[in-house]
Amino acid sequence: MRIVMTGSGYVGLVSGACLADFGHEIICVDKDERKIAMLREGGVPIYEPGLKELIARNVDAGRLTFTTDLAGSVAQADVVFIAVGTPARRGDGHADLTYVYDASREIAASLNGFTVIVTKSTVPVGTGDEVERIIRETNPQAEFAVASNPEFLREGAAIQDFKRPDRIVVGIEDERARPVMEEVYRPLYLNQSPMLFTGRRTSELIKYAANAFLAMKITYINEIAELCEQVGADVQQVARGIGLDNRIGSKFLHAGPGYGGSCFPKDTLALVKTAEDAGAPVRLIETTVAINESRKRAMARKVIAICNGSVRGKTVAVLGLTFKPNTDDMRDAPSLSIIQALQDAGAQIRAYDPEGMEAASAMMKDVEFAANPYIAAEGAAAVVLVTEWDALRALDLKRLRGVMAGDGLIDLRNIYRPDDAEAAGFVYASVGRGAPP
Ligand code: NAD
Repeated sequence: MRIVMTGSGYVGLVSGACLADFGHEIICVDKDERKIAMLREGGVPIYEPGLKELIARNVDAGRLTFTTDLAGSVAQADVVFIAVGTPARRGDGHADLTYVYDASREIAASLNGFTVIVTKSTVPVGTGDEVERIIRETNPQAEFAVASNPEFLREGAAIQDFKRPDRIVVGIEDERARPVMEEVYRPLYLNQSPMLFTGRRTSELIKYAANAFLAMKITYINEIAELCEQVGADVQQVARGIGLDNRIGSKFLHAGPGYGGSCFPKDTLALVKTAEDAGAPVRLIETTVAINESRKRAMARKVIAICNGSVRGKTVAVLGLTFKPNTDDMRDAPSLSIIQALQDAGAQIRAYDPEGMEAASAMMKDVEFAANPYIAAEGAAAVVLVTEWDALRALDLKRLRGVMAGDGLIDLRNIYRPDDAEAAGFVYASVGRGAPP
């Protein structure tokens, strides 16, 4: 099939490369000329494990090309995906659909023969209806159907997630789209990944309901972690004890500094707004958003407490900046709020991250970046572990302590054992591992 992927970011690029790997002919489009130029020269604008090789293989096979010319690509296509960004709108938290609607208008003008337009971006309920209206208004003669196909991949494991999804959700209102979408995903379908066809609005809501549930699950274990600290219990054992119950499941039960990233924060907010507008408020999610927001800054208070109540004039080393390991994505990373709160309290920040420092440097002020964790820790009063990169899981704690001026180690991912940290000379704090009274 001939498929156009509109938007070549984390989702568009991975989806495009994977669909090419299935044997389809893919044109990845982006209006960012720098990204397309880089891709054409064999570079990859984002860090995602395995993506560079996957792209190279499919470019060599002639199945994957890159362009900034959306209009020119659409005319030949059987399917046009929309995978542009849908950030939170400043002020009210609604999803900003400007990019989706602009792309729809551009696509509409060049449609030629029956084409299925598929929103892969995360979009609020009813967006498919509006995309359909825009296309019809822009090009009344066009033969098309609009489908919803939300993406569930996780950054850091995106290729695996795309190729072996738990399920594929497709929302349609026009039966002509069904065989086309079945053909797009045929290799997965044969692999027995469940393909769930629903109405378009239902499909749009499934994505938000899924993300909000996961955000709530993380927030739940974070609150239990707080309680553990007060009553002398261990959240990791609580998580294991409840997670072994199949009705609960063990995933997303890792206590930490609060969820972040390019999806959960904006998607929970957008769902809250959609539900408010619909007169059916989702109070669990409203509370989830509020708890998570305050948690990130509360993590900075943990650091300040270990530094004898003040970080003014002291250096704090922050290890791990991205919102999770194996990505360079810094969008809404908890490190942003934690660092801001520490700077507000007068700390100097020195930071290290294996892949995220370039993106971080554009989003943070007055932060010094170090070439490795030990350089970051030189002369520091405390070290804060924010993201659980493999490269940070087996630090030489004695060496780390040796280069520091102070003795604080605040492990917001519980990757070290309290005994080991204390044996290396640290005053150690983690999340939800309370000392018995
Ligand atoms: P991104 O910002 O990395 O990529 C979006 C790209 O679209 C950008 O490169 C931008 O230049 C391009 N673009 C915008 N308007 C365009 C247009 N008219 N024509 C061509 N290109 C255009 O965003 P992302 O992380 O890939 O997310 C895309 C969508 O997928 C969002 O709705 C997001 O919520 C959803 N999603 C993201 C993830 C994730 O892990 N990142 C997972 C599931 C779903």
